[in-house]
Amino acid sequence: MKGGSHLHARGFSTHHVFRHVSEHASMALQFFISAHPKMALQLLLHWVCSYQTLFVKMCSKCGKLLAMDKQSGLVLPPVKRPYCFTSATSTSKNSPTEKCNLNLIQAFHIGCFSEDT
Ligand SMILES: [Zn+2]
Repeated sequence: MKGGSHLHARGFSTHHVFRHVSEHASMALQFFISAHPKMALQLLLHWVCSYQTLFVKMCSKCGKLLAMDKQSGLVLPPVKRPYCFTSATSTSKNSPTEKCNLNLIQAFHIGCFSEDT
């Protein structure tokens, strides 16, 4: 036992992970529709692509991959991804999605994310 950071697969619920992601995604879609009605789908798809690193990218706040979510009592990866590229509203370029490198999208655990805002 070194570090104590290893977790058993049984302590990890994929079902709950995707439930949180889908909840977050529906909020993101609402945001995109109000901010960029004509590009909402494109923005949503681009944002969803950032989830390809869901089980790889460490939390931008605590630096861990998995953390216990106090609310649900489950071990979750950083499921919260801010819609960082939506603040770039300039329409002079071809696409606002090109301004956001997927690697630059930050990831947060539910607890880490809410503490931040
Ligand atoms: Zn965290």
